[in-house]
Amino acid sequence: MSVSSFPPSPSSGLPVLPVFPGTVSASGRPATLGVMGGGQLGRMFVHAAQRLGYFTAVLDPDPQSPAGLVSHHHIQTGYSDEKGLAELAVLCAAVTTEFENVPAGALQALAAGRPVAPGAAAVAIAQNRIEEKSHFTASAAESAVLAGVTCAPYAVIETAEQLKAVPAGLLPGILKTARMGYDGKGQVRVKNTDELSTAWAGLKQVPCVLEKMLPLKAECSVIVARGWDGSVVSFAPQLNVHVDGILAVTQAYEGNMPPALAERAQAATKTIAKHIDYVGVLCVEFFLVNDGSADGALIVNEMAPRPHNSGHYTMDACDVSQFDLQVHAMAGLPLPHPRQHSPAIMLNLLGDIWFDDHDKMRTPDWQAVLALPGTHLHLYGKTEARAGRKMGHLNITGPDVVSVTATARQAASILGLPGLDYL
Ligand code: ADP
Ligand code: MG
Repeated sequence: MSVSSFPPSPSSGLPVLPVFPGTVSASGRPATLGVMGGGQLGRMFVHAAQRLGYFTAVLDPDPQSPAGLVSHHHIQTGYSDEKGLAELAVLCAAVTTEFENVPAGALQALAAGRPVAPGAAAVAIAQNRIEEKSHFTASAAESAVLAGVTCAPYAVIETAEQLKAVPAGLLPGILKTARMGYDGKGQVRVKNTDELSTAWAGLKQVPCVLEKMLPLKAECSVIVARGWDGSVVSFAPQLNVHVDGILAVTQAYEGNMPPALAERAQAATKTIAKHIDYVGVLCVEFFLVNDGSADGALIVNEMAPRPHNSGHYTMDACDVSQFDLQVHAMAGLPLPHPRQHSPAIMLNLLGDIWFDDHDKMRTPDWQAVLALPGTHLHLYGKTEARAGRKMGHLNITGPDVVSVTATARQAASILGLPGLDYL
């Protein structure tokens, strides 16, 4: 389904966008939006959709999935299960996804009968680092905005010959599986060719990319929403701190990075979205590196075809959140320019803080944290805490950056969170 053929005419058999909330179809079905995947991103999507008056349906095999628990409908099948997909298509007027590893074939099957945003083709690109990088490069060739916003130097490794031919200049580097990597998983840091061979063998010789290890000054991401009609809106870039490959802290306020770079990162993200004919919410991650210039240079890292952990602050610091925009985009509603009304810091809450120094379970001291001004706690309804598991996040808003930073420090210290040094 291309942008130009949308919205489809009623004769195509597809529902006509926009899907208005609160309406009931001729067959008596309330306007229902669907999501592939039932994790925390799906849960926050469901909440946003329901607030507007939509009914929701979640497809996820896990009976305890965070989104399934709060949705009107929860289809508990595998993501490629034909019956499950057919049920989702019958229930929903439009479908989105909350994780990039949803089988692209499933999205394609759904798209035969329903508007699906993002579409299978765009999701397939984001699922494969090799594809992703070649699209970043192609976008750059097409647009002056992206000139100079390059990928990290890299080599594709799919064969033993390609492994042998890796240029020495890419080492030390990071070997990353082309598919299924997230939160630093599927990555090995290698210093020399011996380590590289061992690492590739350890990854079962699946297709990989080797990226040169860059001295990062900082990391940031940009979230845009693009509609069926090609209209696009963007949040300002947020600055991200990762600990052990997982996002720990997001700093979202004016002045978090040089304004010229912030503008370029936004323009680059919009260009990438347009290049792949994207519909929905898209996040692009960037590295900031020293290149001798005053501001430094932007390196485009990867994209996520969905709302992103680094955009959770928008729920409390902006007049529309990334999840509101996901709902608007898929349903064909207008995309208002988001306005951030408060500086914000987001602290990710991993399962680790549910354990004390002796590995005994405890409840984090919410009493103390919620007594701090401008704290907004979001827990995802996961009953079992595990180290490294995303259990929730804490947004901190306030009148200015100084007070938000002070409160974030206090909250992080009460909870025993890492990443304090960056605040
Ligand atoms: P994931 O899918 O796990 O998020 P990323 O490619 O974003 O994979 O890598 C995770 C983190 O590892 C990044 O946020 C960054 O901190 C670090 N990293 C990744 N690639 C590089 C690189 N080429 N140079 C330096 N650090 C990197
Ligand atoms: Mg990443």
